[in-house]
Amino acid sequence: MQIDFGDVLRERHRWALEHKEKGGLMMGCYSAMVPEELMWSCGVLPVQFLMSSGDYGESQAYLPPYVCDCSKSIFEEYVNGTYSYLDGLMVSHVCETIRSLAGILSVRRPDRFVHVFTAPAGNDAGARRYLKSELIGLGDKLQSLGAVPMSEERLEEAISVYNENRALISELYRVRGGNPGSVEPEEVLSAVLSAGIMPRPQHNQMLRGFLKTIHQGPEKTGTRIILSGLLFENEVAGRGNLFSIFRESNALVVWDDLATGMRYRFERIEDLEGGDPLDRLVESLMGPQPAPLRSPAEGKAGQLLQAARDYGGEGVIFLIPKYCDPILFNIPTLTQILKEHGLPALCLEVSGSLPEGQMRTRVEAFLEMISGSPFNV
Ligand code: SF4
Repeated sequence: MQIDFGDVLRERHRWALEHKEKGGLMMGCYSAMVPEELMWSCGVLPVQFLMSSGDYGESQAYLPPYVCDCSKSIFEEYVNGTYSYLDGLMVSHVCETIRSLAGILSVRRPDRFVHVFTAPAGNDAGARRYLKSELIGLGDKLQSLGAVPMSEERLEEAISVYNENRALISELYRVRGGNPGSVEPEEVLSAVLSAGIMPRPQHNQMLRGFLKTIHQGPEKTGTRIILSGLLFENEVAGRGNLFSIFRESNALVVWDDLATGMRYRFERIEDLEGGDPLDRLVESLMGPQPAPLRSPAEGKAGQLLQAARDYGGEGVIFLIPKYCDPILFNIPTLTQILKEHGLPALCLEVSGSLPEGQMRTRVEAFLEMISGSPFNV
């Protein structure tokens, strides 16, 4: 059976509506730093917002012009009915923009549930107690909307399903990193993005099938690159310009640290036997997080360097959404550390669809510069 995650992305609202017909709540989410396992255990399907480019007409009346396209896209599609199947939204406090957007949407759509989830910055016993009580309170709020009450057993099961998903995605990245010609970068990113919108048990089943269809074949040669930052869904599922340029320039994506890619699925929740699963969820949410706000740039640089060592990466391309402060703040530290270790980097500003002309020139020049100089420090 042909497994096409790109098709899942293109048809994501149809998938969602089909799920809605089966019953259960659906919650729009932004970023991996929301307790998806808890929601799933209460019978709520978390649906990650994907960023579509387009005419952000109505958002201009509500949002300042200097906010990212990501927040404009969420605003637009939330109020124009595209996400009519959602029962509310939950965002994690990864930046002030998304927190403010949640506030604006709660006024614009007062009929829908809105929750800003914030894991504490501290890491002590008091912070853990606080977060645990927040999660219990969240479970109660979901129950008042009609969700299933929280239970240890269901949460344990949800953690196990989500951990399997993380393991399968890690395996996909390991296979691709070993032979990047064996699977197209859009297919890998579509698989990860689909995880955020599909019921996870179903996604696990599709991923297991997808992994079996990847044939190693002879190793492809080309300039090995790593992507970091954030990429819009239309570049992945809508056959945008970036990956065409890579193919035409004989560049191979060996790994990514995209907020919509591996970074989203990186951290596994400890599934040690016994103990309260809620405590383990707390530990996971308090631990290293896949967002610049909660993970120091030094750690991120270490991951990029390690991926370059593991998979022969020759350079890193940072995809930086326009007006995205959290990613922008990290860039000087990241590029400096990579430079000190001899790993070249290119920074590209992205805003919806990537314009072809200037981007092609910059990407091709970068690839020409790094080609044949494998990173080996
Ligand atoms: S993290 Fe960046 S792209 Fe996402 S909402 Fe915040 S500013 Fe926008």
